[in-house]
Amino acid sequence: MRAAFFKEHGGADKINYGDYPDPVPGADEALVRVRACALNQVDMLLLDGRFPPPEGLPHVNGCEVTGTVEGWGASVSGLTKGQRVVVFPGFSCGRCEYCLRGERTVCLRYGYLGAHKDGGYAELVKVPAANLLILHDAISFEAGAAIPLAMLTSWHALVAQADVRPGQTVLVHAAGSGIGSAAIQIARLAGARVITTVGSDDKVEFAKSLGAERVVNYREADFVDEVRKWTGKRGVDVVIEHIGGETFEKSVYALTRLGKLISIGSHDTHWGRLDLRHVYQKDLHVIGTNLGSILELQQVLDHVVAGALTPVVDRTFPLSNARAAVQYVLDRKNKGKVLLVP
Ligand SMILES: [Zn+2]
Repeated sequence: MRAAFFKEHGGADKINYGDYPDPVPGADEALVRVRACALNQVDMLLLDGRFPPPEGLPHVNGCEVTGTVEGWGASVSGLTKGQRVVVFPGFSCGRCEYCLRGERTVCLRYGYLGAHKDGGYAELVKVPAANLLILHDAISFEAGAAIPLAMLTSWHALVAQADVRPGQTVLVHAAGSGIGSAAIQIARLAGARVITTVGSDDKVEFAKSLGAERVVNYREADFVDEVRKWTGKRGVDVVIEHIGGETFEKSVYALTRLGKLISIGSHDTHWGRLDLRHVYQKDLHVIGTNLGSILELQQVLDHVVAGALTPVVDRTFPLSNARAAVQYVLDRKNKGKVLLVP
């Protein structure tokens, strides 16, 4: 098959497009012909070596995949060749203490498609057959590929972890990102009001179109000051934080008492300081969150079919031009998801 892979760490120029061994499905696995694959910030960490692929190099990135069923292993039943599918991107062992408790996202052997195994920057990908969900005809392959990681993670963060309620206020960082564009919509769906940040003025209208009531260009204004103005000095109930560093540190000051700081990623840096006085004096909750369940992914898909949520696709690149797609994301030009299509 053809794939976009890398043999050494670095920038977009390390991505090669060429022949790569066909994946061979194991007994419990299915082979999927990729129709669309979304790019993610985690791809950039894998590429530049901040999160080196556990199985080593060469490696194929790509954790958000839609496609059609191409084949399956001996123990798999119930699939049809050509069936439209979306891949749930998390792997869990099913045997550890946390899996047995039903908390598969914190499995001791947890892994992601495209991180712990070769992913979807390719014509073919193999995944556990249990990770396949039917992609409804109402959802295009491109829109479907914008759902499994960003929308599911945002859903789990806001619905399960933050338990966001009608009338609450939510700060969502980086409206232009996959996480941001999903989190704004999901917070609105839950009846919350949203303030968000952007890095350039050309993303303001985009953020408002998703449902944000107030948009802050963080390069021109301090988001904590803007939150205080917007909430009459009260602060927000929930912050969706996926940047790390100073953004994480300052997010604590944007929260009201009993507020929840949901840590959902660390796309700039893995480190962030915490002013502990604010945590204990205001009874704050600092909560980590990782992906979501396959059932939650089905709920998100149902909401997309119903028109209540819209995957935001910015641009599609041919797989052969993956290098340009990666550079586009590294340059933060995207408003929503960037996709590769073989
Ligand atoms: Zn497990």
